[in-house]
Amino acid sequence: MRIFFLPLSLLPAVCLAATESRVLQAGDTRLRVEIVEVDDPARVRMLQRWIQEAAEATKTQSGRYPLPDAYVRIEETDRDDDSPVPWGQTRRRGETGVLLYVRRDASYEQLRADWTAVHELSHLFHPYLGDSGRWLAEGLASYYQNVSRARAGMLDAEEAWRRLDAGFRRGEAASTGARLDAMGRERGGTMRVYWAGAAYWLEADLALRRDSGTTLDAVLDRYADCCLHGTDSLAPQDFVSALDRAAGNDTFSALYRRYAATRVFPSLADAYAQLGISRDGDGLAFARTAKTTQLRDAIMASQRSPSTRSAAPASSPSRP
Ligand SMILES: [Zn+2]
Repeated sequence: MRIFFLPLSLLPAVCLAATESRVLQAGDTRLRVEIVEVDDPARVRMLQRWIQEAAEATKTQSGRYPLPDAYVRIEETDRDDDSPVPWGQTRRRGETGVLLYVRRDASYEQLRADWTAVHELSHLFHPYLGDSGRWLAEGLASYYQNVSRARAGMLDAEEAWRRLDAGFRRGEAASTGARLDAMGRERGGTMRVYWAGAAYWLEADLALRRDSGTTLDAVLDRYADCCLHGTDSLAPQDFVSALDRAAGNDTFSALYRRYAATRVFPSLADAYAQLGISRDGDGLAFARTAKTTQLRDAIMASQRSPSTRSAAPASSPSRP
């Protein structure tokens, strides 16, 4: 589907009437929320509430949106699908934004329990990285779809670790023998692209916390402030080099060289040992030492006041 951006004065009146538009502001950054052809005002308010919460969960560490200006466009669909959000996509044509297709009968609770909106909004933290950087892009969104939702109280913290691990297991099962940076969109590669990518960002986050006294959140915040343009296209190597400059070390490039060339799913044995996480059948066991608990909490615990959090759902559909 093509989206054309026209000055409002050129749009037909019927189109203006059919799109409910409002602007969310965070510091000096703005996110325009467009809800297309939803007639029921109560449902419009529900969709606004849902997307505002997802946008809140994907702010930078300093409380801004990653881009100075972006949009999120919500349309309803009658598609028969298990997911309340059957399809989402990031667009970078002229303006950067997120498209979300929401099942017409999806409830607020179903939408809040779904990861798609937070995943797509997390793509606003990086420029376009091309096919060879798709694993970095999808990995970042897949990492934060769990981390940010846990922090926002949409997901229990241990459940977030279990979902990351379930993703890593799907990635391991999908290893095809190709280099990670050469894997396109062919059948069977998706799980490895998404979840080896998520493993990269987890390992980077742990290395920064362990060796440099900083975090992935802090580096992405600094990068967004100095260098991020949503419509830019960057070679993956240039993106990780820019993150290294923001971090003041070579964590991202060193890990990038190892990951991009790998033909098997990366081992997370060291990362899991550091986190005090071990596999226990299909589930996970969590060590309760002060050091490991503190590290897991530092990644997953809410960074906002507990009074703003609400109950986390026990489970929800999980893709990919
Ligand atoms: Zn994605």
